[in-house]
Amino acid sequence: CPCGALTSNSTAIDEVWAAIRNPKKTVICQIAPAPRAALGEEFGLGSVDVTKKIVAALRKIGFDKVFDTVFTADMTTIEEANEFLSRLVKGEKLPLFTSCCPGWVKYAEQFHPELLNNLSSCRSPQQMFGSLLKKKYAKELGIAPQDMFVVSIMPCTAKKYEAKRPEFMTEGAYDVDAVLTTVEAARMFREAGIIFSSLADSEFDQPMQQATGSGVLFGTTGGVMESVVRYVAGKMLNAEGRVDVEFTRGMENTKIAGINVGEHKLTLAVVNGLAAAEELIKKIQSGQIEVHAVEVMACPGGCVGGGGQPFVNDQEHRLARAKEIYNIDAQLELHKAQDNEDLENIFQKYWGGCCNHETHHDLHTHYQPKKRIVGNEILIKDGTGPEIT
Ligand code: SF4
Repeated sequence: CPCGALTSNSTAIDEVWAAIRNPKKTVICQIAPAPRAALGEEFGLGSVDVTKKIVAALRKIGFDKVFDTVFTADMTTIEEANEFLSRLVKGEKLPLFTSCCPGWVKYAEQFHPELLNNLSSCRSPQQMFGSLLKKKYAKELGIAPQDMFVVSIMPCTAKKYEAKRPEFMTEGAYDVDAVLTTVEAARMFREAGIIFSSLADSEFDQPMQQATGSGVLFGTTGGVMESVVRYVAGKMLNAEGRVDVEFTRGMENTKIAGINVGEHKLTLAVVNGLAAAEELIKKIQSGQIEVHAVEVMACPGGCVGGGGQPFVNDQEHRLARAKEIYNIDAQLELHKAQDNEDLENIFQKYWGGCCNHETHHDLHTHYQPKKRIVGNEILIKDGTGPEIT
């Protein structure tokens, strides 16, 4: 993994305990989509939705607020889908590649700097939430960003790397201070003596409580693409009710399909695993196929198969977790990202709406070619990147 996600032993557990015990810190947690369908495996519950138990456990161990990263997955969908539509109209920077997987982003920076303009400039849902909390919500609470400690529960260790990228800071403080993998979060609950299976359900905090099925789908391969298609179908074609997308689903490494959006005939691709991404890139660059948007997730099966998820992390478990992600989506009344009224209110309150200059400043980012080391040689394919860390 380009982020060292498979070899990293670093854990933020002690740091998180210290922040919880520090009375000066307001300690906030966000929970990514994929861990909710896997964390229960650590407590013998199987691959079932344990979102509300995770929220309850986090409250018990002392978090001041608990939010759902699905909220900012919806935010990512809206910003990214509009970015895609704008590129389509201008006919530039296509295909658009998704950018919410830090393993893929780092790979592109090291091995495909020629594609960096094609990556969506949207920050990942983790980093959008961090930015929102440190730049806006902290002010609302009347505290300095340095006195807010933001923790994420994520399916992978690559998210630890992402959180420490220097561009994701507010007034000298990281937007996300610590990342716990699904397994590490379970370990903290055990350390606190929590009987996880007996916990009564607890809800996320206001005012960012609503989440759509679309955002939950970010937890599995194809989910980001399906979310964008749902949003575009609602916005451009006034599609009402459910818009379920078939081709994005399933564990095949590469899925490609054509769809019509008004006058545009679009070809969309979904890949999981960097080998599949590389193969697709070769076909695109050689002119063998033409696609308009590509979702890339570095892990097999997407985030359900992330390196921070419980063991055993095989295809059977990935399939069971993905099935539960789709079950959660099917049960949620809110379906498309634009159905999230809390999100609409937050966009309005903090940035005067979505997809404007202000959201671009706080919720988007940029990429740089990075060095890679091959044997004793340092290679830069294009431009000058920062020192490798
Ligand atoms: Fe992390 Fe893997 Fe998901 Fe990428 S696909 S964000 S590396 S869990």
